[in-house]
Amino acid sequence: MFATETRKSRVGAEILPAHGLAYVPNAAQFMMGAVLDLSTEVKYVKGVGPRIAEWLEQKNIFTVEDLLYYLPFRYEDRLNPRGIGELKAGEMATVIAEVRNSAVFRTKRMPIFEIVCGQGTSTLKCMWFNGAFLRDRFKPGQLVALYGKVEPAWKGRGLQIIQPQFEILDSGQSELESEEINPAEIESLEVGRIVPIYESAANQKLTSRWFRRVVHGALKNIKADIADGMPPSLCQRLDLIDRRRAFELVHFPEAGEAFTELSEQRTPAHRRLIFEELFFLEVGLELKRRRLRQRVGITFELNDKVRAAIKKILPFHPTNAQKRVLGEIAEDMRHPAPMRRLLQGDVGSGKTIVALQAAVIAIENGYQTAFMAPTEILATQHYLSARRILEPAGYRVVLLTGSQEEDRKRSNRRHIAQGNAHLVIGTHALIQEKVDFHKLGLVIVDEQHRFGVMQRFKLMRKGEAEPDTLVMTATPIPRTLALTLYGDLDTSVLDELPPGRTPITTKKVSDEKADDVWDFVHKQVKAGRQAYVVYPVIEGAKDDQPEIEFSAVPATSKGGLKAAMQMHEQLSLKVFPHLRVGLLHGRLDPEEKERTMRRFQQGEIDVLVSTTVIEVGVDVANASVMVVEHAERFGLSQLHQLRGRIGRGAAKSYCILMTGGKVSPEGEERLKTMVKTQDGFEIAERDLELRGPGEFFGTKQAGMPGLRVANILRDRKLLELAKVEAHAIVEHANPDITSQDYERIMLHLRQHWQRRYGLVEVG
Ligand code: ADP
Ligand code: MG
Repeated sequence: MFATETRKSRVGAEILPAHGLAYVPNAAQFMMGAVLDLSTEVKYVKGVGPRIAEWLEQKNIFTVEDLLYYLPFRYEDRLNPRGIGELKAGEMATVIAEVRNSAVFRTKRMPIFEIVCGQGTSTLKCMWFNGAFLRDRFKPGQLVALYGKVEPAWKGRGLQIIQPQFEILDSGQSELESEEINPAEIESLEVGRIVPIYESAANQKLTSRWFRRVVHGALKNIKADIADGMPPSLCQRLDLIDRRRAFELVHFPEAGEAFTELSEQRTPAHRRLIFEELFFLEVGLELKRRRLRQRVGITFELNDKVRAAIKKILPFHPTNAQKRVLGEIAEDMRHPAPMRRLLQGDVGSGKTIVALQAAVIAIENGYQTAFMAPTEILATQHYLSARRILEPAGYRVVLLTGSQEEDRKRSNRRHIAQGNAHLVIGTHALIQEKVDFHKLGLVIVDEQHRFGVMQRFKLMRKGEAEPDTLVMTATPIPRTLALTLYGDLDTSVLDELPPGRTPITTKKVSDEKADDVWDFVHKQVKAGRQAYVVYPVIEGAKDDQPEIEFSAVPATSKGGLKAAMQMHEQLSLKVFPHLRVGLLHGRLDPEEKERTMRRFQQGEIDVLVSTTVIEVGVDVANASVMVVEHAERFGLSQLHQLRGRIGRGAAKSYCILMTGGKVSPEGEERLKTMVKTQDGFEIAERDLELRGPGEFFGTKQAGMPGLRVANILRDRKLLELAKVEAHAIVEHANPDITSQDYERIMLHLRQHWQRRYGLVEVG
């Protein structure tokens, strides 16, 4: 196990000069050079050790395998570095040159650090704003690699790179270095090749260069036959390269590799690792799906009487999409296996009525329906509209909220337990935890854009048939993605808006123009309309907690945000003294909330100042103006949801996105998207692009596994392929798969996916 290499005797106290941490060697150090396995703890990798291993934990790197999955996010072509003379303004370029001189300039606004570097007689200027701290890092004569956008120089002729990423290539550089690698080898890692660039870690203490060396060392000492769960016949058919080789090549590409393929992570090595990851995800989901199909559910009857009952409750003609989707749901309900259906429909597409029709099928069959909403406000609203629609037909609807008086709660619970209540509406938590149903047949979950889809609803009692489940979401997920990701859900799409909607005009303005905006709101109200004005926080300064977590932008700078309470005061006293201005936020007591909502609904409030509590599902057709302050702080799907509150009636509607203060480039991008399109599908795709899938799906709450190499948007094709192959394997429909192959797959799943995500319960 312990490879004996005399070179290893040089282990001494390694000092980390920049941070003054003494690195005392211990027994682990002497294991360096041992043959590593994928499951070996990372601290045994040459150059790591226990202290750094702790830092690496922040990046979820615990084992050698985790380290190998820490892929470079880009590569630099230092095989054919560019001559300064051939650079063109506007391009991204890597330049290797010698430092000639450096200086710090103090301008009025900030110190600027500048170096001039050269190749022969050509020179290039580089500068870093607020870069005084770099002063001691660059010394004349050093060789540096610089990467950045080439621009014409501000003054005089020539070119410059502003804020380039850089790496000092002289081996004398004092950063965390593994002394165990001989200098000639280091040289070959840094220049004369395509060089991997890693995200630094531990507050820059672990640099890209550090990762490069340590990963290189790990790859050299890893054993030849690492574990591989992929069936050989599949790899052969799909042209997937060897796993160990793939790890080597993604980190240290060979000279011939096409640079664009590398940059886009499309090399055979990337493809192999990405496919593998998606394949096991899909096998896990397929297994789950199969188990669900084997469960016993309820067989609802759909006879003429039921059909008539469904029709009777309709207050309007359903759209064709609504009819089609109801058909899909009804078909599931007639089937004995438990329904698992995801109903996707953009805001305002009319999901609620379809859900209520499904409830009628259950009720007519003698079963109860539970309707779970994400917030109390929304539950209350669903309750009011469900009563309006269902009570005339003789169905009894009950609302359960945490804030109801004990007496009322108790009697509600009794009605539910005895079966007197046909439809029970409440928040997720409430219904899931505390309610005992007489005979529950259908669970409707209004998720809107939050993805709790994979969570299991523990509403069943022992020995009972499993109720059908309908999950509604307003985030249009690309269909193929939905099908693959929500593995255990079938999907229906409401892709048609009810008639009579008018398009919404969306404008982005700075809050310096607030007076004009308020003028406009005033005019709209005078014309008989109502308006929302939304703020990111409830109370200012001392209490700058967003009401609902910002999905896209963490509240980095606290303070300086306009808040609902203060602005309510200002708007009602100063700006709109003659209008009726209401206030709604999550911290009001529930009665107050309900009263305010009802008054707005009935037109007794002209302008409703609110937080994002109204983002989900609130439905007031006469409201035609949505003003969002600090719009730059909201995520795309939040903005889309907010805008979805208007444009519900016949009047022309306006969405005004007001920005306050600095807007980040991504913020600009989001606002631009909002102005450009109203198509929820397009917005979702853009959101997915801007935020990446992990954020988009809210990994933690959704149980959506954090993928390490795959990107479900970029790798959609591979995802589909993985799904097909996984399906064949789980259904035992791939004749090339031996029983050993199958066992290896299951073993890999058990060891990896189950531990990491708790997603897959294998066999
Ligand atoms: P969402 O899908 O966002 O939950 P809702 O179910 O709240 O949408 O419906 C939005 C509005 O459209 C509601 O006021 C609803 O009554 C109305 N609506 C739904 N379907 C139709 C239809 N087929 N014709 C006319 N109005 C409809
Ligand atoms: Mg809704």
